[in-house]
Amino acid sequence: MKIDIVSVFPEYFDVLNLSLLGKAQEHGLLSIDTHDLRDWTHDVHHSVDDTPIGGGAGMVMKPEVWSECLDSLLGVTYDASDARDVNDAKHAPSLADIESADDAEYALSAIDPAPGTTIIFPNPSAPLFTQDDAQELSQQKRLIFGCGRYEGYDARIPAYYSAQGYDFREYSIGDYVLNGGEVAVSAMVEAITRLLPGFMGNPDSIVEESYTGKQALLEYRQYTRPAQWRGRDVPDILRSGDHAKVDRFRRDEALVRTANIRPDLIEQLRVEDLDKVDRKL
Ligand code: SAM
Repeated sequence: MKIDIVSVFPEYFDVLNLSLLGKAQEHGLLSIDTHDLRDWTHDVHHSVDDTPIGGGAGMVMKPEVWSECLDSLLGVTYDASDARDVNDAKHAPSLADIESADDAEYALSAIDPAPGTTIIFPNPSAPLFTQDDAQELSQQKRLIFGCGRYEGYDARIPAYYSAQGYDFREYSIGDYVLNGGEVAVSAMVEAITRLLPGFMGNPDSIVEESYTGKQALLEYRQYTRPAQWRGRDVPDILRSGDHAKVDRFRRDEALVRTANIRPDLIEQLRVEDLDKVDRKL
């Protein structure tokens, strides 16, 4: 997998060279290139932002700087005569609706011009990034991340690249506002890359995890030695050596913890995925 990250603080991503991510890069499992957005500016101040149209506090990231940067990473050149109107694209016919040669040409041209590539901009007012998204994105060949700053970026950037047929996504990492997209991108990169085959020494460690699999539950609690610590004992059953009982104990814990902490996840479970004992809980 190839990852490009664009930010006005590219040095922020030095941490991605540490630990398992660093090793994965050394072993050629993935490459991460960071870029300074200011490299695509042309003025003496290297400005990437301007005042918001319509008024209001703060500054907004300019579309021209981002488009020069993204075009160069995608290896494309902007041709004004070729640009599709975003409003047209919204009404682009689906393959099922094709009635004329023009429809067919238009629908075909809407097909992703960079298959295997996804552009991702973190945004607090976007859908929440989940483990399922991480799983899906770990199958991609290339990810391009753009970090917002200030009041965010011009809304025409995602609209334009989506209309050009690119897989352009915006994600929030939680219901709070950060100063910039760098922390959000670091979190997403880590969540995605640890799912790459060969990333984890023990592949089983990513199978039984919170939010993972068909039945996305919170994980059961974990313990290690010593069995007694400061007056607190590890539950006897975990030391019994009876694997069936240990599995049942952990499953019960996962269900009860999920019901208490994330009832929304319990509501998504399908009754047919629950066994008899689950249903009694
Ligand atoms: N004015 C924006 C709003 O109220 O939604 C907040 C902009 S924030 C200060 C600047 C940048 O930080 C955003 O463009 C985004 O890239 C990033 N960011 C902040 N909070 C985030 C979150 N919860 N999830 C993802 N990205 C976030």
